[in-house]
Amino acid sequence: MAQRILLDMTKLRAALAEKHDLQVPEAVFYPAPNREGLRTIRELAVFRYACRRCEDAPCIASCPAEALEKDEEGIINRHLNLCVSCKSCVTICPFGTMMTDFFKHHRNKDLYYDLTDMEEMAKFVAACPPGTAEITDRKESPEENIFRLNDRILIKDIKYINEK
Ligand code: SF4
Ligand code: SF4
Repeated sequence: MAQRILLDMTKLRAALAEKHDLQVPEAVFYPAPNREGLRTIRELAVFRYACRRCEDAPCIASCPAEALEKDEEGIINRHLNLCVSCKSCVTICPFGTMMTDFFKHHRNKDLYYDLTDMEEMAKFVAACPPGTAEITDRKESPEENIFRLNDRILIKDIKYINEK
């Protein structure tokens, strides 16, 4: 049975709120869809599940580097090669969906794990705050707020937008 990472974003937010300088490991899924930078599973999850997809998105309007745009599904996409880590988008987002450490660590490759590799998966889980990540053979379970981000990653979070 396929082994996956299950990352609980609600618990992760609580851990970050408790300890602001917490270094949360990042992870990319190789072959990553976007190799111009390290697009992390947490960032993908936040924009897919927690973001309200505001019609006139204030995050996009506030970005001085034109680094944010919506894709064809209305999901925010941050171009890491343009982002200057000013955090204007974090400050202006009325729902506080983004985690500021995205912008602090996005060029720190030491914090990244390749989740196509079982050993790296185990190291990623060990590096996460206790209780926020596990390796599982479970599948997507929307009734439990568990969603499939990709073949190897399940995200547990409150989903604000019901996709058709
Ligand atoms: S942190 Fe990056 S994406 Fe956000 S407003 Fe600043 S430049 Fe734009
Ligand atoms: S302002 Fe916040 S909730 Fe609205 S689209 Fe931007 S990130 Fe999503």
